[in-house]
Amino acid sequence: MEHTFALISLGCPKNLVNSEQMLYLMTEAGYQLVPDPEGADLAIINTCGFIDSAKSEAIDTILETATYKKNGSLGGIIVTGCLAERYQDSIQKELPEIDAVLGVGSFGDIVEAADAVIKRNSFRSFANDSISVDEIPRVVSTGPSWAYLRIAEGCNNFCAFCAIPFIRGRYRSRKMENIVEEAKDLAAHGVKELIVIAQDITLYGTDLYGHRCLTQLCRKLSEIDGIEWIRLHYLYPDQFDDELIDEIAGNIKIVKYLDIPIQHINNDILKRMNRRGSGDEIRELFAKLRTRIPGLVLRTSLIAGLPGEGEAEFEELCAFLREARIERAGVFPFSPEEGTPAAEMPAVPAEEAQRRADLIMELQAPIMDAFNRSFIGKTIRVLCEGRDEESGLLSGRSFADSPEIDGYVLFEGFCPPGEFAEVLITSTEDGILYGEETGR
Ligand code: SF4
Repeated sequence: MEHTFALISLGCPKNLVNSEQMLYLMTEAGYQLVPDPEGADLAIINTCGFIDSAKSEAIDTILETATYKKNGSLGGIIVTGCLAERYQDSIQKELPEIDAVLGVGSFGDIVEAADAVIKRNSFRSFANDSISVDEIPRVVSTGPSWAYLRIAEGCNNFCAFCAIPFIRGRYRSRKMENIVEEAKDLAAHGVKELIVIAQDITLYGTDLYGHRCLTQLCRKLSEIDGIEWIRLHYLYPDQFDDELIDEIAGNIKIVKYLDIPIQHINNDILKRMNRRGSGDEIRELFAKLRTRIPGLVLRTSLIAGLPGEGEAEFEELCAFLREARIERAGVFPFSPEEGTPAAEMPAVPAEEAQRRADLIMELQAPIMDAFNRSFIGKTIRVLCEGRDEESGLLSGRSFADSPEIDGYVLFEGFCPPGEFAEVLITSTEDGILYGEETGR
């Protein structure tokens, strides 16, 4: 009889890619995927341990899953990913319900771990986090029309607030030919939009080829038949050269949407947080990008309440946001992460950091709404993803919306999932655009 497993994937898109790889390895080995841990032989929980709220979510998920194990309706629990890596010495002492633990370099050992747990043995594996990235095939769980394409692992930037370089290791690019092969395979399976991800995609190639290669990679990806949109996520602001800007501006397959996390705009805070570049350089970059790439949609992420952020620094950030009118922004309150330099610095109280994060979202809401309203009366290209159950309308995204983090378009029409439709936008509400299909 086939053994069954449930897979719970927490955290970011990079972690989801690891979950998709484990899904491939487990199903290839004869394990059968089931939707719920209750009644399964195994539950695999792929965790995030990036910030406090992610850690709490991971621990709550493990504890909830453990109740099935206690009442006999689940065989065993395997915990993988960032939380496992970060707390590898203590995680099983704190949570003895866990049977096996795999670090971020050991996803390839999932079948060995599963076989051990089925036999009531425990299993642990933590590979060196600086070895080259495992080229493991995967079962794409997104779509029907889009997929993440991870081009590198780890990070060298060591921002003072961030634990990622300690958890995921140094920056390691995947070989360009492997990435292009994977993209071709995705295209052959109907994927039309590639979401290019890594902790910092601007650094791509520096470790393997001795220079930045994102421009060449984008060019190669855009030559693949079937790929129509290439979306770039997580570009470090000081790494834009003219060649890259020209490629983004001139390549019709690269969507005019860039995700450039800036975290803050005040010079002292940027320096204290070990971020390269100054506030003025960020201002200049955004102005240059908007001039050179007409219609560009910018996304960024910010941290409110970073150490050193007084009222004046916070006001500088708010003034910048009022002026820059960034179309898409996410904000986190600062959370001191053990082992990082920022955790040792005198911090803004947590409630105050949360209050400032809320204020930023209040400030951003009318900017994002005004941007959405600017589509009314226009016809835009939408990648259809299927029917929205609640409204009965078709659901899709335009170039201005990245999956999972932005809004979407609901429209009347007959477009099949995975195809593009021309949609006339007639109204907008709560970040969602409404319209009707006018053609393909
Ligand atoms: S760029 Fe900075 S914030 Fe982003 S993963 Fe690297 S160290 Fe963390």
